[in-house]
Amino acid sequence: MTLHAAYDPDNIFAKILRQEMPCVKVYEDDLALAFMDVFPQADGHTLVIPKAVTARNFLDLPSDRIGSYMQSVQLVCRAVETGLNPDGLILTQFNGAAAGQTVFHLHFHIIPAYKDRGLKRHAGGEMAQAEILEGHAKRIRAALP
Ligand code: 5GP
Repeated sequence: MTLHAAYDPDNIFAKILRQEMPCVKVYEDDLALAFMDVFPQADGHTLVIPKAVTARNFLDLPSDRIGSYMQSVQLVCRAVETGLNPDGLILTQFNGAAAGQTVFHLHFHIIPAYKDRGLKRHAGGEMAQAEILEGHAKRIRAALP
């Protein structure tokens, strides 16, 4: 998967956007969707994806969509902070397989960081139980404005 291949409309996140695949939703507006990562690197690991674009990565996002998208990322970041009260927040975004990207629809990761707890492996490990993800999502949702 290079940085510049064609957008695959059957990638997992495109399917989630079309509601062909389930997700534990945290936030949605006309331009963005946020949901829990099913292989969380830490409790509360949340993904924010832009809607109505065929952007595999940050380079592909039309520049007039960056502002609204980043506003959604920050909105969800703040709710993760308020809802889960972590000691820190890690924001990551990978472009291309060589950089570690595994799903080719643009997304930012919001990963809560907790003192004395390490991060789990990126995009691997054990799938989290839906009830656990729902518990975190509920707290994040309750902290949204
Ligand atoms: P990337 O490696 O592309 O930066 O991140 C993709 C993320 O999507 C990974 O953190 C991975 O755990 C997550 N992921 C993979 N498949 C699914 C899925 O079906 N549902 C959800 N919610 N997350 C997924």
